[in-house]
Amino acid sequence: MKKSTGYLMLRDPRNTKGTVFNKSERRKYKLEGLLPDGIETIDKQIQRVQGQLKQIELPIHKYIYLSNLLDINETLFFHTIISDPATFLPLVYTPTVGEACEKFGHIARRPRGLFISIKNKNRIETLLKNWPVKDIRFIVVTDGQRILGLGDLGICGIGIPIGKLALYTSCAGVPPEYTLPIVLDAGTDNEKFLNDPLYPGLRQKRLKGKAYDDFIGAFVKAVTKVFPKVCIQWEDFAGVNAIRILEKYRDKVCTFNDDVQGTAAIAVAGFIAVSRLLNKPFKEQRFLFLGAGAAAFGIADMLVKKFQKDGLSKEEAYKRCWMFDVNGLLVKSRTDLADHQLPFAHDSEPSNDFASSILKIKPTAIIGVSTVGGAFTQQVIENMSSINERPIIFPYSNPTSHSECTAEQAYSWSKGKAIFASGSPFAPLTYNGKTFTPGQGNNVFIFPALGLAIYSTEAKRVTDEMLLTASEAVAEQITEEDFAKGLIYPPVKNIREVSINVAVKVAEEIFRSGLARIKKPKNIRKFIKSKMYEPVYK
Ligand code: NAD
Repeated sequence: MKKSTGYLMLRDPRNTKGTVFNKSERRKYKLEGLLPDGIETIDKQIQRVQGQLKQIELPIHKYIYLSNLLDINETLFFHTIISDPATFLPLVYTPTVGEACEKFGHIARRPRGLFISIKNKNRIETLLKNWPVKDIRFIVVTDGQRILGLGDLGICGIGIPIGKLALYTSCAGVPPEYTLPIVLDAGTDNEKFLNDPLYPGLRQKRLKGKAYDDFIGAFVKAVTKVFPKVCIQWEDFAGVNAIRILEKYRDKVCTFNDDVQGTAAIAVAGFIAVSRLLNKPFKEQRFLFLGAGAAAFGIADMLVKKFQKDGLSKEEAYKRCWMFDVNGLLVKSRTDLADHQLPFAHDSEPSNDFASSILKIKPTAIIGVSTVGGAFTQQVIENMSSINERPIIFPYSNPTSHSECTAEQAYSWSKGKAIFASGSPFAPLTYNGKTFTPGQGNNVFIFPALGLAIYSTEAKRVTDEMLLTASEAVAEQITEEDFAKGLIYPPVKNIREVSINVAVKVAEEIFRSGLARIKKPKNIRKFIKSKMYEPVYK
């Protein structure tokens, strides 16, 4: 885009520096008189931002302030986030973004991103060309049907692609000018929204079946035509649509689904880290899932790939993954299983008792993806502790009230022996005089770095190998000091450094598999760093 001057330049979020413009710039760009005389540094501007944020009590109001800052001064926004990721990420993304989406129709100020409705199905190319940047490399798109754990929020779900892309830039330096948040308006079944005069989307029930699939098809075709180097990240689609869309397009275009693949990658990173902590080969782990739905399959699939990578046959790999669902243990004799569940159904007696199945199967790790809060009972944790010196307990169900157990329960029922990580956050706690910091499987260690590697190498596809490489790279970065605190994921404050290291490894994999559109540079790390956006005034 052409750089403006004068009054318009001050209002151009990508090119303004506000009070940081120096004397000669003010003269050159005709800014004299439009700014107070004082010339400041970006640190002074951040001090002002932090001062104002301190005065604001509610996270949602801080979110609105920060969204406004992004609209006014992009560099200052990203500089602020990077100055303290652990504080700011929860304000620009989860959990605050959930409330922001629910209230979008009421708090929206300036529209951001693209809104593509079914009414424009045959004009998607035209809409995409209305975007001012011609070389978009990263799109995060949602249809708003399953926003976090909040259900169908229609086009109010746009907050998720916006927030997620802010994380790509903040955490891994994917340049913001190459990113584009999109919401597909396929209607909504949210009655509250349909009756809300301030709901800004289509007032019709959700499109289903072939008409929906055709809409997605038209979107993918138009996007890949207008932006040929783009990667499409699907976000917060309802489970069945998510998996169908991913399967349909993953071998045809550069695309991935973070809910399915990013979640699996971060969970597997945790298990690889635990193997390091315990000094035990990964292939000696054995997993028992409580829950055999979409999340279980995403994680189990990647575990199988990791086992194979570490030398096991596919059959041996499956035998190390067991599942238990609402009808009990998945065993060969069951007649109610879906095709994709069959490889995880083993030769064994049926059982409806999870705690006693533990004694029989002898898993090293249990993973809760059942949505049933409290399902890891005292008996479950005690049985895990009786067969493992360090039982691995991962209750991954969200939100906190659905967590299969709390951190406190895991540590106290295992007498401090458990290695714990959860889907929802738990605060550090003390048991028997020792402080434990519960790990949280947070995809933020995976997708921004993956995005940086894809953007830098202009990758043609996103493969399972790339995701598994990202898992391994995250797990490598946990230090002995982190382990001593009970952490099995790196601290969020180190996110940028971690992301660079992960991106380098993923980029190596992209070059190895011949999926890069560019020539391999001599020094990949240097190259990746040179591609990163730094929020500094130029
Ligand atoms: P799903 O509905 O596809 O699957 C739920 C599974 O749990 C089913 O197999 C069901 O049979 C089983 N189940 C239900 N009640 C049970 C019971 N009483 N005993 C044993 N099994 C029971 O859901 P999903 O998409 O797989 O998600 C499951 C959970 O995982 C959700 O709470 C979700 O928030 C969480 N999740 C977390 C993350 C993360 O990053 N932490 C990512 C994805 C999903």
